[in-house]
Amino acid sequence: MPELPEVETTRRGIEPHVVGRRISRLLVHERRLRWPVDLALVDAVMGATIRRAGRRAKYLLIETGSGTLILHLGMSGSLRVLPTSTPRIAHDHIDIELDSGQTLRFNDPRRFGSLFFTSGDPTLHPLLKSLAPEPLEADFDGEYLWRGTRRRAVAIKQLIMNAKLVVGVGNIYASEALFRARVRPRRQSKSLTRAECIKLARAIKATLTMAVKVGGTTLRDYVGADGNPGYFRQKLYVYERHGEPCRVCGKAIRQFTQGARSTYWCSNCQK
Ligand SMILES: [Zn+2]
Repeated sequence: MPELPEVETTRRGIEPHVVGRRISRLLVHERRLRWPVDLALVDAVMGATIRRAGRRAKYLLIETGSGTLILHLGMSGSLRVLPTSTPRIAHDHIDIELDSGQTLRFNDPRRFGSLFFTSGDPTLHPLLKSLAPEPLEADFDGEYLWRGTRRRAVAIKQLIMNAKLVVGVGNIYASEALFRARVRPRRQSKSLTRAECIKLARAIKATLTMAVKVGGTTLRDYVGADGNPGYFRQKLYVYERHGEPCRVCGKAIRQFTQGARSTYWCSNCQK
């Protein structure tokens, strides 16, 4: 499932190919995505020039002179930039054809992705207007986390994955950030000290930043023929390393199920 770093990697990958380009045609081959695609958006963006490729949480915002396309990759979606003449393969649902002779092609086998259009401010769209702060922006920091954890009895791992507190911290990144901050995933949120909140906020930023950076190194592959996003698995401290030695202390990494998701941690390094 594409998490925030993969979506940001996608944004950076498509940006140089789409900004300044005119949309010559938008084809919806399959409108039954998570929500049916409103075909009125086809005419709304026809001939419009793309000004910016933005992102809010896991939504890609393709801003044009006429309004903004709001695209979510869902569970299994990917975007590729291809020559427009490239034959479609299975699950290629949407083509955004550009005046460069290239096409931004959306593929989504499970069809949990979505595409909306708004002529207004995209941050006021119902999907976006109530979103919590971005983890990589300045308004998410140790003080914000400290305030958000007071009086919260829920385990800290589950709290940092709650999109009402901060968006885009998925399962991989939550385990990794807690390891980096040396905080046990099962700790009650309110038991964290201010210093631990500061460390954890920094660890969340560092983990996501590194994931974006590593994703960036495989961008060429991403926008090329195979469409596979790059992950940073070889750099992981704990995620899916159950039984393997901790990279810091050598003790075996442990795993348990928390909120129906697997959590990985080191019982020696994390307090
Ligand atoms: Zn350890």
